[in-house]
Amino acid sequence: MNATPTHLSAHTLRLILGDQLNPQHSWFATLRPEVVYVLMEIRQETDYVLHHAQKIIAIFAGMRELARQLAEAGHRVHYLSINDPANTQSLTDNLSVLIAHFQVQVFEYQDPDEFRLDQQLQAFLAKPQVQAKPQVQAKPQVQAKPQVQTSTPCGISAGSSQVDSEHFYTQRHEAAELFANRKQWLMETFYRHLRKRHHVLMDAAGKPADGQWNFDADNRKPWKGIPPEPPDLRPEHDHSALWASIQAAGVNSFGEPRATQSRWPINRAEALQQLEHFITHALPHFGDFQDAMSRKAWRLFHSLLSFSLNVKMLKSQEVVQRVEAEWRAGRVALAAAEGFIRQIIGWREYVRGIYWAQMPGYDEHNYFDHTTPLPKWFWSGDTRMNCLAASITTSLHNAHAHHIQRLMVIGNFALLAGLDVPALHRWYLGVYIDAFEWVELPNTLGMSQFADGGLLASKPYVSSAAYIHRMSDYCKSCAYDKKQRLGDVACPFNALYWDFYLRNADKLKSNPRIGMAYQQLARMDDSALAALRLRASQIRGQLDEL
Ligand SMILES: Cc1cc2nc3c(=O)[nH]c(=O)nc-3n(C[C@H](O)[C@H](O)[C@H](O)COP(=O)(O)OP(=O)(O)OC[C@H]3O[C@@H](n4cnc5c(N)ncnc54)[C@H](O)[C@@H]3O)c2cc1C
Ligand code: SF4
Repeated sequence: MNATPTHLSAHTLRLILGDQLNPQHSWFATLRPEVVYVLMEIRQETDYVLHHAQKIIAIFAGMRELARQLAEAGHRVHYLSINDPANTQSLTDNLSVLIAHFQVQVFEYQDPDEFRLDQQLQAFLAKPQVQAKPQVQAKPQVQAKPQVQTSTPCGISAGSSQVDSEHFYTQRHEAAELFANRKQWLMETFYRHLRKRHHVLMDAAGKPADGQWNFDADNRKPWKGIPPEPPDLRPEHDHSALWASIQAAGVNSFGEPRATQSRWPINRAEALQQLEHFITHALPHFGDFQDAMSRKAWRLFHSLLSFSLNVKMLKSQEVVQRVEAEWRAGRVALAAAEGFIRQIIGWREYVRGIYWAQMPGYDEHNYFDHTTPLPKWFWSGDTRMNCLAASITTSLHNAHAHHIQRLMVIGNFALLAGLDVPALHRWYLGVYIDAFEWVELPNTLGMSQFADGGLLASKPYVSSAAYIHRMSDYCKSCAYDKKQRLGDVACPFNALYWDFYLRNADKLKSNPRIGMAYQQLARMDDSALAALRLRASQIRGQLDEL
């Protein structure tokens, strides 16, 4: 696929990355014949971690659709598909070839969200010269020979510029500035700062609406089947031809491809439809059942908007404004609107701030030195633990699991069992449709694994079976007994939970938020503690068999 430009030279080359699918970016406001937009499907991006098949398909489908729309609007677009013979499969090698081929004078790109891409592009631009690869076969339409420029960095004669992706509320380094010299970086501080600055859910006097910043305490109800989960109205796409080309290119992946029934939006219009559907049918119940889990409903009242947001089909501001308008119109309760808005301008902007403040090096943290390999059922969902079977199966089947499944089932188990943090990070980065490192890494390492030692979370998010039972219907039909701590049928979470606190007393005991757990442990006698330790070590020794 290639909407080939008719002119051979182009003054400016503009790069659009796979998660920059925003047709409303100011770049596209005017037609400029001297500008070529380039999008590329490259093995560098499919292979830096093993990805879920749906994720590769959905991103490529969205890229193809944006390229089509831009070309239809009259822009010059150069599209390198995964099996194009001219595709070097490397971002910067492709750029070298194209810069030479189009005799580009100016190279422009939007802020990459991932550190590795940011670094790669900066290193590319700093290079004294780029040797265009002569062995790369140009497409038949491409007639000019790649030329080697020697005079300026990377062969561009008039320079390069990095522009805002026009998606987020904050700049990359705002969290670092706000939290400078603080030991703990509280999300709530960042969230209130942004609400005040952007006047979101605030009254005329500059106070939070209804005098309350946070309705989290109201948002913890289990779901018993009523109200019913809203229907899934997302349109289905048949991406079988695209999937065949991805497979023909030899790209490895895992998870259910569902290529003939893909329901991830391919463009902004579909993403907007999904937003409206969420607002009408699910938002009124979002707050109440935000933390609920059920075998009978994988979506519950969640928006499934993370993909459209992260690839920038939707702007975060428009989603927040739309939800706030719904509350101001009296159609949705403040607790529901606030609960949702907090996820976007609270958590989402905050984790991005953490990522840019802490990279490079944030991905190397492993506070508890956890190194146990992931059990094999992370790749199949085949475990007798009902909560994990359900959460991992939905991840493999839908490339999605909602927040509490990611945090309080999969992440909780991983932390209690001492699973290898980098391997877990790679699993989360690969499996979810919305996983991009800037958002996945702080959530996995910081929030879920406490691997940064408490920069992001004030205490580890761990629980025994009691929490999972309270928030779900998983325990009712589980092979394990949620109440037992010892014995073969005892729920593995229970012994692992107490053992986690025992093992890590030196690191956690002084944390005032965990005092209760250590008080309970202090009341247990030595034989009870020894039995818990023994059961936990047996569980850790047979993770694959659970
Ligand atoms: C271990 C772990 C890994 C995660 N990895 C990712 C990831 O790779 N990409 C990702 O977008 N989210 C990630 N999250 C956050 C959250 O689980 C997903 O954003 C959410 O489940 C997406 O589904 P949804 O769109 O239906 O969300 P909803 O429940 O409808 O929430 C609305 C929106 O809020 C935002 N949001 C909610 N929670 C968070 C959060 N903690 N951090 C950032 N944004 C948030 C998302 O954009 C989401 O679309 C992770 C959470 C955990 C615990
Ligand atoms: S009993 Fe334990 S393993 Fe089974 S579903 Fe409940 S928490 Fe999960």
